[in-house]
Formats: sequence, structure tokens, C-alpha cells
Amino acid sequence: MRFMKKLQNYINGKFQPPVSGGYIENIDPSRGVPFSLIPDSSVDDVTQATEAAKNAFPMWSGMSLNQRSEILLKLSKGIEDRMDEFVAAESLDNGKPVSLARQVDIPRAVSNLGFFATAVLHFASESHYMEGMGINYTTRKPIGVVGCISPWNLPLYLFTWKIAPALATGNCVVAKPSEITPYTAYLLSEVAAEIGLPAGVLNIIHGLGSKAGDAIVKHPDIKAVSFTGGTATGAYIAKTAGPMFKKLSLELGGKNPNIIFADCDFEDMLSTTVRSSFANQGQICLCGSRIFIERSIYNEFKDAFVEKVSRMKVGIPSDIDTRQGAVVSKDHMEKVLSYIKLAQEEGGKVLAGGHQIKLEAPYDQGFYIAPTIIEGLSYDCRTNQEEIFGPVVTLCPFDSEEEVLKMANATQYGLAATVWTSNLKRAHRVANQIHSGIVWVNSWLVRDLRTPFGGVKSSGIGREGGWEALKFFTEPKNIFIKE
Ligand code: NAD
Repeated sequence: MRFMKKLQNYINGKFQPPVSGGYIENIDPSRGVPFSLIPDSSVDDVTQATEAAKNAFPMWSGMSLNQRSEILLKLSKGIEDRMDEFVAAESLDNGKPVSLARQVDIPRAVSNLGFFATAVLHFASESHYMEGMGINYTTRKPIGVVGCISPWNLPLYLFTWKIAPALATGNCVVAKPSEITPYTAYLLSEVAAEIGLPAGVLNIIHGLGSKAGDAIVKHPDIKAVSFTGGTATGAYIAKTAGPMFKKLSLELGGKNPNIIFADCDFEDMLSTTVRSSFANQGQICLCGSRIFIERSIYNEFKDAFVEKVSRMKVGIPSDIDTRQGAVVSKDHMEKVLSYIKLAQEEGGKVLAGGHQIKLEAPYDQGFYIAPTIIEGLSYDCRTNQEEIFGPVVTLCPFDSEEEVLKMANATQYGLAATVWTSNLKRAHRVANQIHSGIVWVNSWLVRDLRTPFGGVKSSGIGREGGWEALKFFTEPKNIFIKE
């Protein structure tokens, strides 16, 4: 086995076992067998990490911006230098195709660190002059010790998306990756040690959300929590941390609409919609899972889409031509399959996929699902309302802009959407009326790290990215001086 290893927590610059001495099995989704052990950390480990972070804070926040920037650039470079190892670990841990980890996950983690290492050099505060009275100027100071908790779908990518702005602005961090995909966060702690990141600045705790994660949320000295994960977990964190007056950034679930008008560039739309539906086995919070198609091209779209999707190769993540790897866990596979069953009970017709796939040994216990397309469901049934977060999409025809906006906006979620049209006025009109934090017109997943990232309604509170992230991780103070 490639990675049969016991991971350790990274606290105060040292690798150490959990205080409890307990470990949890980490499963390789491509084969359904354990391949490493991760610390089952508890409140004791989080307390140690928080103490270390508190002790490091005066030194780290007192460094010049340039010094901090240089250290973070080294961290970014350190990942890049071990690219192959990070790519293999991400694919092994998550089940995603190696090609995707190489094209998206790890390069974007490298960029996150590089971007915030330099963005912070340009982060300026405001001043407001009052004629004849004086001047207000606003300082922005780091918060202190902050908590960063991330999910399993884009493990290192989303972990660094939080850690980078937190560290760049001078905070010290207690971070926890998902217990389902901890491996690249562990490798990141190795890089941090290698490049000489000062002890206590970044502490990485492994373990269960209900234990280690909960301890981060509840620790009184962790003053802000940046969380990405499910809406139910986000609600629990808001309920717990709210009365402690912690600053919260919550990036939560989605049920994103793809809206396709007949006047779009059909070929571009088709190939992008295959990607936006099934990339990472549909386990990207930005994947579109409800596809609305103008009725005049519904049949043409359906036939072409089913044909393309049916040809996608579901296979071993390390094979270069695999387009769909394994979903992340057995529990998740069963959840996704239960939704396919529900869709059929609700009257849906499966046009492609709809079942588990068994590969040959030693991958026969892996968690593979055929990419699934379903039609014939009402926009307000459970299948079209609840987040499935897997390789399952529904098709639904529409006749007018008003009708499609009503259906697209009729969920509790509001993360992202795509609109496909060559009519510029309509693109603006529809994009403006969709209830979501992000809209891509004639495109998908184009990321500019300067732009605000996040959702509305049950998809979260706050925004990550660019100045938004730098503002979240700093506390503004206004000072007035009389003339
Ligand atoms: P999850 O909520 O189960 O877990 C996310 C993280 O929170 C994990 O590290 C977990 O250990 C931790 N956690 C769980 N319970 C906790 C608790 N009580 N206190 C503190 N931490 C706790 O989510 P998941 O299954 O890992 O991820 C999938 C979800 O994430 C989907 O809903 C998806 O839409 C969402 N997601 C959202 C975005 C976004 O940007 N909006 C991005 C990626 C994923």
C-alpha cells in the first residue's frame, strides 16, 4: 500500500499524536479499504493548539507585511515543489481523478497562498475627511487566533482558501481539515515545517467534526471561525458561536440551477454543462444540479447530453483517461443512490446512469456511481430541492424567462448559477434576478481570486476571496482626530 501511515497533529511546529491516543481509519474510496490512520483529536489537542497560536500571535502579527508575505510565498512554492506527491495524495484520499487534482485542486491551492501573500501588500484602509472638523482613519488589525474548518470535496484547495488570508493578515490559525480527506493538510504541515514557518502560527488538528471541530467552534480564545461545509453543520456552528460573538464566515450547501436558452452557443454550452454537472463526481459546491432548458431545444439538448454523458469513462482515479472517479465514501455513495431511488419514486425517469458501478478487483469495493440524468420531475419535489452533492442532475423544460426564474429561485439555497444565452440584455436581466452569490454567463468555474465568493439564503453568510477575505480576518477600528 502506498500510504499506510499514521498521520499526526501539527501543534506549535511539532508533529504529535492526539492526547487521547486514539486514531480513526482513513478510507481509500477507489478501493473501499483503509490506507492510513488519523488522530482522533479532542478538546485537549485544540486547547494545546490554541495556546501555541496565542503565544505566536505577538511575533507573527508584529512582523512586517513583507516578511509574512515572503514566508507565505515559500509555503506556496513548497507545495508546488512536491506537486506529484500532493496530486497523488489528493486523488487517493478523495477518489477524484488524478488529472483533476493536477489541473485544479493542487495548482489552485498553490495560487491561493501566492495570491494572498501578495494581495495583502496592496490592502489599504480608508480615511474620511470631515470639512472643518477633522479626519477619520480606519485601521485594520488581525483578530488574533482564528479557526478554519474545511470539507472533503476540494480538500487542500478550500483549506488554503481560508488559511492563506488568515495568515497573510497576521492571525495565527487552528485549522481542521475534513476527517474524510486529511492527507494533503498533513502534507501541508510537513511543508510548513520544512520552510520554517514559525512555531504556533499554523496548527493543524485532525479528527471528527463533532469532537475536534466542535472544540474549535467553542474555544473562547478562538475569536473567528471560517467554515465551509454542509448547511446543517453551518446552522449548528452559528447557534453555538453566535452567543459567543465570534466573527463567522459560513460557506454552505447549494442546489445550483443551469439555465439554458435556445439562442446559446450549443456546442460550448453542451461541453461546459457536462463538466459543470459531473466534475469531481458532481461533488463541487458550484456544480449545477438542476438543468433548465428552453422547450424549443429540450429534445435536442437531452439527446446530445445523454449521449455525451453515457460515454464518460467511470474508472480508477489514477487512469489518465478516467473522467469520473469514486465518490468520497460509502455513506455518501449510499446517500446519493437513495436520492436516485427517491427521484424514481417521485416520478422521475432515469435517462442515463442511475446505478452503482462495480470495477474489477482490487477496485471492486470502491464507491463508483454512473453519472445520472433524470427528467420528468416537478421543480418543487424533494429531488429538486435537497442537496444531493453527487453525479446526479435533473432536466426540466421551460417556456419563459419568468417561469425559469421562478423555478430556479425556488430552493432554500443560493450559491451559484449559470446562464446560457447570446442575448446580452437577457444575460444581464436574468443574472440580476437569480438569487445567488455567483452567476456565470456562458461559462462555469472561471475563478478570479479577487472576486467575492459565497452564497445567499441557506448557502451561507459572508464572502471569501479578495478584499472580502482580508476584511473578514481583520477587525476595523475608526480613529477620529479633530482639526
Ligand atoms: P460537513 O458539514 O459534514 O463537514 C465540513 C467540516 O466541518 C469537516 O471538517 C467536519 O469535520 C466539520 N464539522 C462537522 N461537524 C462539525 C461541528 N459540529 N462543529 C465543527 N465542525 C464540524 O460537510 P462535508 O460533508 O465535509 O462537505 C460537503 C458540504 O460542503 C456540502 O453541503 C457542500 O455543498 C458544502 N460545500 C460548500 C462550499 C461553499 O463554498 N459554499 C464549498 C465546498 C463544499
